[in-house]
Amino acid sequence: MDTDTIKRGELLHKGKANNVYLTDHAEYLELEASDRISAGNGAKRDVISGKGIANNIISKAIFSVLESRGIPTHYVGPGSNEASKIVKRATPILLEVIGRFKAAGSYVKRYNVPNMIPFDPVFIEYTYKSDAAGDPIIGEDAIIANGILTRRELGYIEYVTEQVALIVREFFSQCNADLIDFKIEFGKLPNGQIIVIDEISPDTCRILDKETGKSLDKDRFRNDLGDVAEAYEEVAGKVLKLSNPNH
Ligand code: C5P
Repeated sequence: MDTDTIKRGELLHKGKANNVYLTDHAEYLELEASDRISAGNGAKRDVISGKGIANNIISKAIFSVLESRGIPTHYVGPGSNEASKIVKRATPILLEVIGRFKAAGSYVKRYNVPNMIPFDPVFIEYTYKSDAAGDPIIGEDAIIANGILTRRELGYIEYVTEQVALIVREFFSQCNADLIDFKIEFGKLPNGQIIVIDEISPDTCRILDKETGKSLDKDRFRNDLGDVAEAYEEVAGKVLKLSNPNH
C-alpha cells in the first residue's frame, strides 16, 4: 500500500525502544524506532545514535519478506521518516514468543546447559508480558487458564512462530549472519485475526557473523562489547544491499 498520504498524529505511547503515533487513519499507527536501548528489563539504558534508523531498515525488510511469504503481520509500509513504519492497529497479546535455533542467553543460564547446543528445528517458549509479575516464563496451560489465548490460537501462534523462524533465519543467512534466537510478538485485529506485530531487528534477535562469529545484535550492549551502532549499521547495510543489489 502507498503510505505517503498517511499523516502522523499525536504520540500514543512511548515504549522502551519505540514511539507509537496515531495517524489520520483510525486503523493505522506509525511506529518509530528510537535510538534508546535497554537491557535487563530497563536496568541498563543508553542512547545509541543511528540505532533507530538501522533497526527500522532491517525490520521493514523482514516484515516485507514475511508478508510476501504469506505470514500476516501488522506491516503496511514505510513511515514519514527513515526510522518509522506504518502498521495496522492491533490489540497486543501479552506474550513474548521466543524461538531458539541454538541455546543462548537466559536459556543457558536457566538450565545450565552449554552455549549453542542446537535445537531441531526450533525451540519455542513464552514469557508473560507483565511488569507486575516480572515477565515470567509461562507454560501453555497457564496461557490458556489465564485467558490469554485459546488452545487453537496458541496452536496457530506456535505454527506461525516456526514459519517466521525459518524465514528470518534464511533472511539473515543471506546477510551472512547466523540467527541463534529471536523474540516476536502478536496482536489481534478487530476481526479477531492474529498477526505478527512490533519489530524484528538486532534488538530482538541474536545474530552472529557467519565467518567471524562476531555478535551483531543487542548482546554488544548487554555484554559491553562496544561498537553497538556499527554492528547494527553493518547489518542494515547488508539488508539494503540485499534489497537493492545495484546500489
Ligand atoms: O533473554 P534471552 O537471552 O532468552 O533472549 C532470547 C531472544 O529473545 C534474544 O534474541 C533476545 O534479544 C530476545 N528478547 C527480546 N526481548 C525480551 C527478551 C528477549 O527481544 N524482552
